[in-house]
Amino acid sequence: MWDFSTDPDFQGKLDWADRFVRAEIEPIDLLSPGTADPYRRDGAVYREIVRPLQEQVREQGLWAAHLPPSLGGMGMGQVRLALLNEILGRSMWAPMVFGTQAPDSGNAEILAHYGTEAQRREFLEPLLDGRIVSTFAMTEPTGGADPGGFTCRAVQEDGGWVLDGEKWFASNYPHAAFVIAMAITDPDVPVHRGSSMFIVPKGTPGMEMMRATGLAGEPVGEGVHGYLRFTGCRVPAENLLGEPGTGFVIAQTRLGGGRLHHAMRAVGQCRRALEMMTERIASRRTRGGPLADQQAVRQSLADVWIRLEQFRLQVLHAAWQADRAAETGGRDEARAARLHISAVKAATPATLVDVVYRAVHAHGALGVSNELPLARMWQAGPVLGIADGPTESHKDVVARILLQDAVPADDRLFGSEHVPTRLEAARKKYAGILPALEGDR
Ligand SMILES: Cc1cc2nc3c(=O)[nH]c(=O)nc-3n(C[C@H](O)[C@H](O)[C@H](O)COP(=O)(O)OP(=O)(O)OC[C@H]3O[C@@H](n4cnc5c(N)ncnc54)[C@H](O)[C@@H]3O)c2cc1C
Repeated sequence: MWDFSTDPDFQGKLDWADRFVRAEIEPIDLLSPGTADPYRRDGAVYREIVRPLQEQVREQGLWAAHLPPSLGGMGMGQVRLALLNEILGRSMWAPMVFGTQAPDSGNAEILAHYGTEAQRREFLEPLLDGRIVSTFAMTEPTGGADPGGFTCRAVQEDGGWVLDGEKWFASNYPHAAFVIAMAITDPDVPVHRGSSMFIVPKGTPGMEMMRATGLAGEPVGEGVHGYLRFTGCRVPAENLLGEPGTGFVIAQTRLGGGRLHHAMRAVGQCRRALEMMTERIASRRTRGGPLADQQAVRQSLADVWIRLEQFRLQVLHAAWQADRAAETGGRDEARAARLHISAVKAATPATLVDVVYRAVHAHGALGVSNELPLARMWQAGPVLGIADGPTESHKDVVARILLQDAVPADDRLFGSEHVPTRLEAARKKYAGILPALEGDR
């Protein structure tokens, strides 16, 4: 049974969220536009505006919607979450107001899955409550897409662990209360089996930020992505997450969902660009009529809508695959989810770049100016092509999974669809009626 409708009760929640984001949260994007701003806990915006809005989200039962009810979320599954995240994707502040912001959402999942009772009490509870924010530090200056380049080490000493090495692009470190950091604990096995995850609270001696890196457009030194150095940084044994050697398994807990959630929010950005483009070409007059009279402009609008609809269905389908994998726990379902999530991850930057670029272009000088949000939205495209792994790596996952089922052709030279070979086989199959067929000619 295929059904593309949303159940009326949940649609009511989505309608509320849509009105709430536009009316209450988008104004915060304008008042406090720094990319790091949502992560600050010391400012008036958080205290005076965001906290009361978070209460309203809780009253609607939409707080931390990515988490199961046991952790204070709705347990709504990825498909419903996709529909909600499409709405939250319109606004930079909205994920924070709804308790679903990265990297805290993924870190909460890690702590929920692998944290001991004490770790959950100390780190997960305040994180879920929105009182603190956190950082995930896996990438190193010497290795991003290729973990083979990781060198940060942790060794056991006096009943604890001592970390030495560097981490790069540890998002939100300047405001974080703790870091979940990956380090190599067994250099004698491949990095995928020899790495572990540690919780390192802010202020632990030996963990320092050498500099904060920003994205293009932000003043140098004012970014939110920490370049970290660990020098003899000692954490107690109980700060290890899970078992030694399981760092990559733990990382996957957060990365799959995180990639999908970025794609869901990208749908929201594309929708906003489409709305703006439609309004613009219906309003702007050129050569004696609306811009919409120009066929090339109408073609571009249609291309945007078609691309967005294709992408949105792909995202929802990947979300459905993720739900099936979670429900069944099956290997085949998990593999299908991985295939679809990587495909969506690879499609996200190109979709965002193309859709937003067309909206920018339709707005002329205003589109590339700092008086509309479009150019900034466009910049998210290239960023999403890198964060959580570059596009090529995800296309590689897609191709590898497809190739797992590939069977070489019996006829290695011409393949199984070779017309002369198949014609010969067809003639043999219907040899009895070949003379009659000849007669028809
Ligand atoms: C906004 C943002 C936030 C981030 N936040 C975090 C965070 O919180 N924590 C964290 O740990 N990391 C974070 N990262 C880092 C991110 O995960 C890495 O940047 C990413 O994995 C790529 O690594 P790299 O930058 O070293 O690029 P490289 O690995 O050097 O790759 C550069 C380019 O080389 C090519 N390439 C690389 N590998 C292959 C391949 N196998 N096949 C073909 N081509 C390839 C691709 O074109 C790729 O874009 C963040 C990055 C960004 C941009």
